[in-house]
Amino acid sequence: MSSIVAIVGRPNVGKSTFFNRLIKRREAIVDSVSGVTRDRHYGKTDWNGKEFSVIDTGGYVVGSEDIFEEEIRKQVQLAIDESDIIVFVVDVEDGITPMDKEVAQLLRQVDKPIFIAVNKVDNAMRVGDAVEFYNLGLGDYHTISSINGSGTGDLLDAIAEAVPAQNEEEVETEELPRFAVVGRPNAGKSSFINALIGEDRNIVTNIAGTTRDSIDTKYNRFGFEFNLVDTAGIRKKSKVKEDLEFYSVMRAVRAIEHCDVAIVVVDATRGFESQDQNIFWLAEKNKKGVVVLINKWDLVEKETNTMRDFEAKIKKQIAPFTDVPVVFISALTKQRIFKAIETAVEVFENRKKRISTSKLNDTMLDIIKQNPPPATKGKYIKIKFCTQLPTRTPQFAFFANLPQYVKDPYKRFVENKLREHFDFTGVPITIYFRPK
Ligand code: GDP
Ligand code: GDP
Repeated sequence: MSSIVAIVGRPNVGKSTFFNRLIKRREAIVDSVSGVTRDRHYGKTDWNGKEFSVIDTGGYVVGSEDIFEEEIRKQVQLAIDESDIIVFVVDVEDGITPMDKEVAQLLRQVDKPIFIAVNKVDNAMRVGDAVEFYNLGLGDYHTISSINGSGTGDLLDAIAEAVPAQNEEEVETEELPRFAVVGRPNAGKSSFINALIGEDRNIVTNIAGTTRDSIDTKYNRFGFEFNLVDTAGIRKKSKVKEDLEFYSVMRAVRAIEHCDVAIVVVDATRGFESQDQNIFWLAEKNKKGVVVLINKWDLVEKETNTMRDFEAKIKKQIAPFTDVPVVFISALTKQRIFKAIETAVEVFENRKKRISTSKLNDTMLDIIKQNPPPATKGKYIKIKFCTQLPTRTPQFAFFANLPQYVKDPYKRFVENKLREHFDFTGVPITIYFRPK
């Protein structure tokens, strides 16, 4: 499980600019397929061989002017509770403001690595102005310019140093499927878990995981053995926190990173909303298996095509990764609870699936021969050979004479054919074209 770095600070100090630089803008803000702008305040990055997740807390601050300060205080407190490393961004142009002092006050009580980023230090002249930030009482600071990048490398070096080295062993020790039940507040996550494992959930032994705060709890239901992922940091604290979007995102990030299959619970009476989409995206982004559960199906008035239409609408929203099982359940009446878990186990198996090289070539090379990639600049692309890579999640390499000319639509075609012939339902797959 990678460390979570939270970026906190007042509005307009440059948090999101810094965030974008940190994640190297790898995440397209505009989704090339659907063409919609998606606000994403979460990303993954690596620096000096350390991988970590980054959250821009500013993206979650909502509300009118008067509740602004209160909101920021809440976000900072949550960031303190839920992340591993905190970057406190301040603005050299404004100097120390009363809000900065308050945030500093909160941070002074924290026993986690904290980095002060004095932003907008675009030139050497401003370096001197930054000195006043010693008065925050948080020790040394880094001067950066998120706009031109100066100083950000040094800050990242320091952050990466604070990120613990990834423990390789941790990854492979668990053979049972690890399921994370995620979703928006009130979608019915607890009800689903209760329906699944009954009321004895509180008395089963928790097996402490290898990481500091992760906990897997082992269950055996309907003949399936699996672990439900819980983490100390994400257990319910108070209803107030629970209701905050940011808090549920934090929970989801942690749980998803630690699972094999994310069980995304959606409230049928609300439909599949942008927050559901974000949680789905988190799972996809982390290359986890996904099952979508449409819960509270007992409350929905049904006509002949209600289910089909519901599913079609969701598929549109999660495109292009649509090869995902959608199960309509009621945690209340326990309708299709077995089906839900059976599906999650299937997705887990799909994610582990290995296709032999001969079988893969037999199937795919024929298809490719009949539908070769279109010639580019008068050059013909020849795909000679393909193989599944020995990675933990399904990844495939196709070897070609001119791999750089293979365009996205063709990659999607190949992916669809792979999915058609070998069941990878619920699993994100990655395809590379490489020089032969
Ligand atoms: P956030 O509200 O904290 O996320 O702040 P933004 O990242 O949206 O930035 C607020 C404004 O400050 C924008 O107009 C940015 O272009 C500007 N800004 C961000 N970083 C820098 C910087 O390093 N130098 C200067 N001069 N402006 C910056
Ligand atoms: P969580 O916040 O995602 O854990 O959601 P809860 O499990 O606490 O459920 C939120 C509310 O929805 C509670 O009042 C549940 O009783 C109700 N609820 C959950 N699942 C169902 C369902 O399948 N049908 C109906 N009618 N209500 C449900």
